[in-house]
Amino acid sequence: MARVVVIGAGISGHTAAINLKHKLKKSNEVIVISPNSLYQWIPSNIWVGTGHMTAEQVIFPLSIPYKKLKIDFRHAYARSIHPDGDSKSDKGFVRIEYVDSGKFEDLQYDYLINSTGPKLNFDATEGLGPNKSGTLSICTYEHATQAWGELQKIIDKMKKGQKQKIVIGLGNGGATCQGAAVEYVLNVANLIKSKGLENMADINYITNEFMVGDLGMGGAYVRNNGYVAHTKNIIESLFTEFGIKWHTKNSVYKVEPGKIFYEHIDGEEKVLEYDFSMLIPPFSGVGLKGIDKQGNEITDGSLFKPNGLMTVDADYSSASKPYHEWSGEDWPSRLQNPTWKNIFATGIAFAPPHSISKPRTTPSGRPLTPAPPRTGMPSAVMGNAVATNVADLINNNKPLDGKLKINASMARFASICVVSMGYGFRGIAGTMSVYPTIPDFKKYPDFGRDIEYTMGEPGIAGHWFKWVMHYVFMYKAKANPGWYLIPD
Ligand SMILES: Cc1cc2nc3c(=O)[nH]c(=O)nc-3n(C[C@H](O)[C@H](O)[C@H](O)COP(=O)(O)OP(=O)(O)OC[C@H]3O[C@@H](n4cnc5c(N)ncnc54)[C@H](O)[C@@H]3O)c2cc1C
Repeated sequence: MARVVVIGAGISGHTAAINLKHKLKKSNEVIVISPNSLYQWIPSNIWVGTGHMTAEQVIFPLSIPYKKLKIDFRHAYARSIHPDGDSKSDKGFVRIEYVDSGKFEDLQYDYLINSTGPKLNFDATEGLGPNKSGTLSICTYEHATQAWGELQKIIDKMKKGQKQKIVIGLGNGGATCQGAAVEYVLNVANLIKSKGLENMADINYITNEFMVGDLGMGGAYVRNNGYVAHTKNIIESLFTEFGIKWHTKNSVYKVEPGKIFYEHIDGEEKVLEYDFSMLIPPFSGVGLKGIDKQGNEITDGSLFKPNGLMTVDADYSSASKPYHEWSGEDWPSRLQNPTWKNIFATGIAFAPPHSISKPRTTPSGRPLTPAPPRTGMPSAVMGNAVATNVADLINNNKPLDGKLKINASMARFASICVVSMGYGFRGIAGTMSVYPTIPDFKKYPDFGRDIEYTMGEPGIAGHWFKWVMHYVFMYKAKANPGWYLIPD
């Protein structure tokens, strides 16, 4: 019997856990650790932040699927990984701290999957975040609920004839998740328009992207109605239609109540004032530590990189090469730690080799490089791929350094992204499918991606797709009958 411990029960970890239980022989054990006993379908936070859904509609207790699948759940924080055990045993273990009692426990594992997602690193920008300046977030269902509360207040003011300034975007030059910020600003603009208040709102999108449509993945050329268009053109035309002004190439470095301070790529320092603002924070690792057999912290980068994300089989030396020499081969294909091969990392938890967008800084040295996004679909695909590989290793007693069943590289699979611009039966959404997720100009010299499978189009079909996706993915995450037939 083998024991697999999964740290994190978000899109990636939860997908890994339910697939492990589905694919492993019954005698094996799957344990999931998460400080949140609720599953949250984060993409629908956009609609929580615009009042179309309540927080209760995007969450459910993890006990629902875990009881059905007999997954052992620990409501706890993982605090440290001890890959070589300690003085009592050579077996690797995770030290966890229970949320309710504060008690610690050491959980031994045969295989470990780290899917802890991001720490929302508000501290990286002075004054950023809902607890400090008044800039909001929609990264959790609680944050999105709070954002909706504040949005209603400015809508009331607009109804009374007071013009309001709205700023939505990225709260740091190194932040990612541009897709969510774009989707939120479009939904907010659509909501205001639906109330006939568009003349009372000055709506702005502020970003670290070199151009809108970069989305942290260097932008994309997509097939669109028989033509090849760039995502820049598509998003600019949507922003124009919805009356949204865009401010690109900006590194936000400080926030005060009502004021956002930023440096432009040309070195000019500017201020944007706001009545309502939602700025996505940068992400970092959640603070897990690696501890060696003697009890010392492992600080040489073999388990975690300095940003707290987990070391896997990426070519990290590629980061020092010029941008035009980066390739899909730099990205990890096994998502396996090179030193402790029974440890894997999926979703936002693994350390990427470098950004996808071209790295830049402002003249004063502030970052102007979106971190590479690991959005929902790739995070779920990675979770499933690693679960399939681990189950195959265990079921067939295979060696840890042999060929794995599935290549889990983001340079080898597609991503689909749907950006809604409203809610309900009527509306449009931009649907984009890119293959591969990581552009590779060596392999696809014209467009960086395979243009046959890279397409994008705004329309009503995408709108319904996004809406249905919410219910289908909630159904799947609850492990309802036939869940495993639904793609990630
Ligand atoms: C507002 C918003 C909208 C988005 N919309 C889309 C979209 O439309 N499409 C799309 O593809 N992507 C979207 N994304 C991105 C997507 O949500 C993420 O890419 C995805 O959630 C990443 O999955 P993950 O499992 O790596 O992390 P998460 O889903 O964040 O899960 C992390 C898990 O780890 C747990 N954890 C944290 N710390 C610890 C610890 N110390 N010990 C144990 N467990 C821990 C957390 O509780 C959580 O269960 C959106 C993101 C945001 C913020």
